[in-house]
Amino acid sequence: MAQTKGKRTWRLLVAEDELISRTLLTRLVSSWGYDVIAVEDGSQALEVLEGDDPPRLAVLDWMMPGADGVAICRRIRALRREPYIYLIILTALQERQKLVEALEAGADDFLTKPVQPHELELRIHVGRRIVELEEQLIEAREALRELATHDPLTRIWNRRAILEILEKEIARASRKGASADVCALMIDIDHFKTVNDQYGHLVGDQVLMHVAERIREAVRRHDEVGRYGGEEFLAVLTGCGVNGLKAVAERIRKEVAENPFVTGDRPIAVTVSLGGARLTGGEGGGSIMQLIGRADHALYEAKDQGRNRVVIDGEQGVNDEE
Ligand SMILES: [Mg+2]
Repeated sequence: MAQTKGKRTWRLLVAEDELISRTLLTRLVSSWGYDVIAVEDGSQALEVLEGDDPPRLAVLDWMMPGADGVAICRRIRALRREPYIYLIILTALQERQKLVEALEAGADDFLTKPVQPHELELRIHVGRRIVELEEQLIEAREALRELATHDPLTRIWNRRAILEILEKEIARASRKGASADVCALMIDIDHFKTVNDQYGHLVGDQVLMHVAERIREAVRRHDEVGRYGGEEFLAVLTGCGVNGLKAVAERIRKEVAENPFVTGDRPIAVTVSLGGARLTGGEGGGSIMQLIGRADHALYEAKDQGRNRVVIDGEQGVNDEE
């Protein structure tokens, strides 16, 4: 009977110290199409289950040297790792009365030796069903998380998420002291209303996506970028100093200005104005709203000075093309 669904091949751990029983189990389970990893004691079993990319199914003998099956269950459950590993315990007949202990330790199921092949096959099937259900739950949860934290249009952080990131970074900087800094960079598309009026909102949306892409292209790997409002973006930078902040801001400005958005055969020239503000941990942790207020103020300065330029709070304006 084929045990692969689609392209998936299930891996399964067999941990059993008795050679004959281990060989028999391995042969049986392999014949059902599983990719079997067979080990002969509890420490080897733990090594496999605690390692990277463990099998999702395990059949564990209760009595084994190294660590017994129940101890393994307890340890694996204490790790609370994802993905879930479905654990089936094998017991000798005289251990049946202790099954409560096995279940309490986190075993999902148990079988009494000698194992009936058909029963084992069905129980492993149940395990697969549980594992697949858990995977679907994780997928659904991750999809919800993505929805809750990302802007659906540009796929970058949404306002709430980027503000949370900024808040966390401010707290981190104030813990670390004067050597740490956080920068908020407000980026606003110049004359965006004109784009919408002239080309329609669909093109406007595409321009927003395009600019978000350009910003992501221009920032450093660990910088975070979110959509703050309609045509306004917020980048959170750390560990860059005021010169680093200026450099990143200028790179964004250039990246946008030099890469017009092309719809059909018409390029639409887009520029952004940027306002940045920096906070060091030594300043006793200013509030998030103060930092954003300063960046916002610098942004209005940049707009006032003619747009397509960078202004850093407390600094001289950085000019565009000389
Ligand atoms: Mg044993």
